[in-house]
Amino acid sequence: LEPLYSFMVRLRLPGGRISSAQWLTLDDVATRYANGTLRITTRQTFQYHGVFKSNLRAHLKTVNDAMIDTIAACGDVNRNVTSTANPHRSKVHRQVFDIADAISTHLLPRTRAYHEIFLGEERVAGGPDEVIEPLYTQHYLPRKFKIGLAVPPDNETDVHTNDISFIAVVEGGELKGFNVAVGGGMGSTHGEPATYPRISTLIGFCAADQAVDVAEKIVLVQRDNGDRKNRKHARLKYTVDDMGAETFRAEVEKYLGHALEEARDLATTDTGPFTTTGDILGWYQGEDGQWHYGLFIENGRIRDYPDDNPIHAGMQLMSGMREIARLHDGDIVLSCNQNLIISCVKPAMREQIDAIIESYHMLKSVTPLRQHSIACVAFPTCGLAMAESERYLPTLLDKLDAVMKEAGLEDDPIIVRMTGCPNGCGRPFMAEIGFVGKAIGRYNLYLGGDFTGTRMNKMYRENIDEQTILDELTPMIQRYAREREEGEGFGDFVIRAGIIKATVNGLDFHAA
Ligand code: SF4
Repeated sequence: LEPLYSFMVRLRLPGGRISSAQWLTLDDVATRYANGTLRITTRQTFQYHGVFKSNLRAHLKTVNDAMIDTIAACGDVNRNVTSTANPHRSKVHRQVFDIADAISTHLLPRTRAYHEIFLGEERVAGGPDEVIEPLYTQHYLPRKFKIGLAVPPDNETDVHTNDISFIAVVEGGELKGFNVAVGGGMGSTHGEPATYPRISTLIGFCAADQAVDVAEKIVLVQRDNGDRKNRKHARLKYTVDDMGAETFRAEVEKYLGHALEEARDLATTDTGPFTTTGDILGWYQGEDGQWHYGLFIENGRIRDYPDDNPIHAGMQLMSGMREIARLHDGDIVLSCNQNLIISCVKPAMREQIDAIIESYHMLKSVTPLRQHSIACVAFPTCGLAMAESERYLPTLLDKLDAVMKEAGLEDDPIIVRMTGCPNGCGRPFMAEIGFVGKAIGRYNLYLGGDFTGTRMNKMYRENIDEQTILDELTPMIQRYAREREEGEGFGDFVIRAGIIKATVNGLDFHAA
């Protein structure tokens, strides 16, 4: 008798966009072949949990029939490419989304193994000596590889946490190209200071039509120079720090056959620099007058909650979204903040969608603190988890909401993120208040990230329980309420107040 193997299935959804028809298929798959929920990840895609081995092929085949795949959603290859949370907001957002899609397609492995193993495709050629991967060759990359694109002033993709960051430069209303930054990444290991999170470093500017080639050449430089002996030192961020950003840039230019232009000063562009990492929630109009609706999904979990659930009592997110997908013939886009956007809604349908959201209790009143929170999955489905995250953060936020209210800050956002381990899937090291699991019920507390996703935080307390978390944060939040300057975020305040030192980049992340 075979053990009851159970799998996690992660989709490849460049830019997080699917049609309503695809939504209905993904919903059906969740019910038939997984645990009946859909989980929006921090990389703009869905993960399914609890897929039994006997259901795996049927799951992937059904998804494939809906023109979606899971290729390179994991492994030492380029992963899901993230992009602006709503490609339909403007012409530039659409262009950037299309480039994200093109990068994703270009960097796909060419092997047909996926189709042969999971989709029943007949093996027609191939053998141990055949080189079938023009980019990845036989050995693939030293480690996973992540690419993100963003259109300032919105940094909802947390673009600097990627191995490659493409930051749109818009001048005269046109997409001129991208500032290119390299070497971002969140993963680290507790107690091993040689591992650290890092934000990407600007190395230049490329025209929009060069972005796919630039992405490819950076991947190749990493393929040929990344550390293949030590997996904990194998991400591009370590290659960039080991080589130095200038040398790395020169190597990329050698592979490109031309120089990158100097990075543009965002302050002189149409958009200006980043001002937020948040999503737009509720109804808003795009450049062409079309309507879009941003729906907050706490920690990205779409499910129907029972009436006695202490946090989400009666919320019917799965059923409600099914109704909306049946009615709505536009796109639905996932965000890196684990929310979703019902995009391009016909004006006549707005009232119907509002009615569905209300009747399925899809919208509960949430504070700005909660709106700006992220939690990774952690227990019970992530094998790397050391502590709870998705199942615990809502409870902790209830308590922090009370602290915020007491301090008169109930209408103010602070970015709070939690993960169950330092792998950092929920990007906790970019949070103004970050929690990283150390053991059951215990977390490292990090402070000092900024509101725009351009500065990491630093560890403030190690291995503390809930009561200590509240004891530490309560006076700090009260002091912030009393002493903050006009427009000053919590992360900026704790640095100005001398509570924590600013982290400049990965190499000083562990410095006190
Ligand atoms: Fe990622 Fe760690 Fe959270 Fe698992 S526990 S989802 S590996 S951050």
